[in-house]
Amino acid sequence: MGSRVYLDWNATAPLRGEARAAMIAAMDVVGNPSSVHAEGRAARALVERARAQVAAAVGCKPAEVVFTSGATEAAAVLGRLPVARVEVDPTAHDCLWSQRRDGEGSRAIGWGYANNETGVIAEPSAREDGAPLMLDIVQAVGKVPFSFAWSGAEMAVVSAHKFGGPKGIGALILRDGVEVTPALTGGGQEMGRRAGTENIIGIAGMGAAAEAAARDLADGVWDEVAELRNILESALSSVANNTISVGNDMPRLPNTLCLIAPGWKGETQVMAMDLAGYAISAGSACSSGKVRPSRVLLAMGHDEAQAAQAIRVSLGPGVTKEEVLRFADVWSAQYRKALSRAA
Ligand code: PLP
Repeated sequence: MGSRVYLDWNATAPLRGEARAAMIAAMDVVGNPSSVHAEGRAARALVERARAQVAAAVGCKPAEVVFTSGATEAAAVLGRLPVARVEVDPTAHDCLWSQRRDGEGSRAIGWGYANNETGVIAEPSAREDGAPLMLDIVQAVGKVPFSFAWSGAEMAVVSAHKFGGPKGIGALILRDGVEVTPALTGGGQEMGRRAGTENIIGIAGMGAAAEAAARDLADGVWDEVAELRNILESALSSVANNTISVGNDMPRLPNTLCLIAPGWKGETQVMAMDLAGYAISAGSACSSGKVRPSRVLLAMGHDEAQAAQAIRVSLGPGVTKEEVLRFADVWSAQYRKALSRAA
């Protein structure tokens, strides 16, 4: 593919070497983790090791980690809680948003902790009624310090591929003692909280990625990413005087830049930059194929035209300063061209 530059880490992060090695090793583990013989116990040990690695990275107890096929599956239990109403913050990802339900009486809450489109980090509002709270920490894990134990939430959802694990594996973090109706029923795996033979290859990869991600975070690698994001932000914002850098006055993920470039459609920006060798996205990470204004940007008070002119550039620790500066040059030249065509 030539010299591509990948700047779409919020959609999915490159696989970490540690995760690849753990998955390759797991492929030769023959047992079923539910079997009591030695082969089964070896597979069980692999799953429990990964559970401890994920727990350490999100700040919870190992027993509070329930492996699922991803954050989307984990979020499905929100809609199954025995409450009359499920309230979801309007900037939350579709996996929580789709669990909304109206009704009079008791409620549960879904909350996007770190936004995939803008990077904005928002603490949930106080709950006097003790309504169960599910946090979407998919974009936060490994990028900013977070502790489930300190969060006060009853549930959280995690996806491995956002921090360098494989795609299609994730976890529901479920506070000790909180009962939920599983989204999948059948066998008694995951202490009866998620049926089905465990995806031990994915689980091994997720565990190894979680451990490596936690180490990187502690080593401060995301501080350097934030510096590059800030360099990029000022370069792109200086092309026109009416660009909007969404959320730059709020607490934000270190790697995310959401920029509205008036007069240039987000989809066109993505295509132009793709042709030039750069992967970025417009609108929401998981639904870039669909052309509709971003619900998140509308909820933040931007109008439809602005929402349609937004791009998201999301960096990661492998990205270099030289790549960011080259991106800024190419994007700026293309934007000037688009503006002069429109004039
Ligand atoms: N939540 C957020 C904030 C996300 O960015 C994503 C994926 O983009 C998800 C949830 C869903 O994750 P998955 O598709 O891996 O289930």
